[in-house]
Amino acid sequence: MLCRGATWPLVHRNLRPIMFSPIYFDHNATAPLDPRVLEAMLPYLTRQYGNASSRHEYGRAARRAMDEARQQVAAAVGAHPTEVVFTSGGSEANNFFIKGAAALLPKGIVAVSAIEHPCVREPARQLIRSAWRVREIAVDADCRVASADFSAALAERPALISIMLANNETGAVQDVARFAAQAKATLAKPADAWFHTDAVQAFGRVPVDFRALNILGVHAMTLSAHKIGGPKGAGALILDKRVELQPLIAGGGHERGLRSGTENVAAIVGFGLAAELAVIDLQTRRAALEVLRAGLEAGVSAMGAHVFAAKADRLANTSYFAFADIDGETLVGRLDRAGFAVAAGAACSSANPGPSHVLLAMGVAPELARGAIRVSLGMQNTQQQVRDFLAVLATALDGLGWMRQSGKQPLPGLAGFSGTNQHCLQGGLQRDGCVATLN
Ligand code: PLP
Repeated sequence: MLCRGATWPLVHRNLRPIMFSPIYFDHNATAPLDPRVLEAMLPYLTRQYGNASSRHEYGRAARRAMDEARQQVAAAVGAHPTEVVFTSGGSEANNFFIKGAAALLPKGIVAVSAIEHPCVREPARQLIRSAWRVREIAVDADCRVASADFSAALAERPALISIMLANNETGAVQDVARFAAQAKATLAKPADAWFHTDAVQAFGRVPVDFRALNILGVHAMTLSAHKIGGPKGAGALILDKRVELQPLIAGGGHERGLRSGTENVAAIVGFGLAAELAVIDLQTRRAALEVLRAGLEAGVSAMGAHVFAAKADRLANTSYFAFADIDGETLVGRLDRAGFAVAAGAACSSANPGPSHVLLAMGVAPELARGAIRVSLGMQNTQQQVRDFLAVLATALDGLGWMRQSGKQPLPGLAGFSGTNQHCLQGGLQRDGCVATLN
């Protein structure tokens, strides 16, 4: 018999699942494509294949679709359509802002928070080769940009500043509005420093209002489609028109000369609809995810996990935790074999085997940081899946010697959870094959 919520249609004699759909708990890496988005995209992958620059009906149809998508993205974040520059995604938009701005400014200081995604950190570091200086802004133990160090960085008069709206690993939300206002007040003229924020993880999870941020002093903002139910390969830089950037890709002059290359019309159409959908019922979705996460964190805390950034204002869907002396990759592998897709650290930096730079910046000991596991929930996840996950996690930890070491109970307290599947929770897993893969 299978646990409700786990979808394993076939179980082999040795209790190894031979065909199953793992439960997806990795929405910060990427979110599933919304079926409505796919439907909106399909005509532009089939019969409406025109090049948006062509001067015939096929081209005009593609252009109209792009114009609509531009309006949808702009409306979703409170920007003007002319402020939307479509890119291939968040990485390109971040690189475009940092490299594009630096190319046209006198050499100076680029100040970035110590927890930025590698696609902000790396282009900033590459500027060192062209005689720029990188100033990393410290964060506190709960992944919040440290106000004192931000003020100290401003005193060095940076020409470029980038602070993300929400961190992809911990989910910590930064008070970008306050930092931008402080930068504007301290650095006097807007042109004295361009302030950028990476809103890739924040968008669709917390309200994001570019106009309000822009008035306070944010000049550019990055978005990505695939984190909000849109397709991979589409994103945008929302750009204050006063900011001059040198294009990364020169050519036919697409996107007002800022980003040449024939537009990926289908992906842009998908991005537009995903952006529109991402802001509908945001608060309701957020509340539902908070309940799921609270159950998850009650469970992992009862097992003795250290939950990172627990005191910060966090994205409701994100939980990042570790068990001392338990290797995160090993645990993720066991959970994967048991049918749960979670991340060890940040998926986008899986090429880097070291502990997470975010956790190190928070002052987490490298040994504990190596154990970090990120669970990022989405709206199709259920309380039952969280309960099953906790049971499987407890068994996995037991297999790794954690329960014996820590003297914790093998099954977590699940206070606050309604519904039952005691078969799964109270050891039935061992009979139905759920734990058979955890040896
Ligand atoms: N910024 C943040 C905070 C991210 O989490 C990611 C991807 O994980 C990116 C930027 C890169 O976006 P994309 O995958 O669209 O290149």
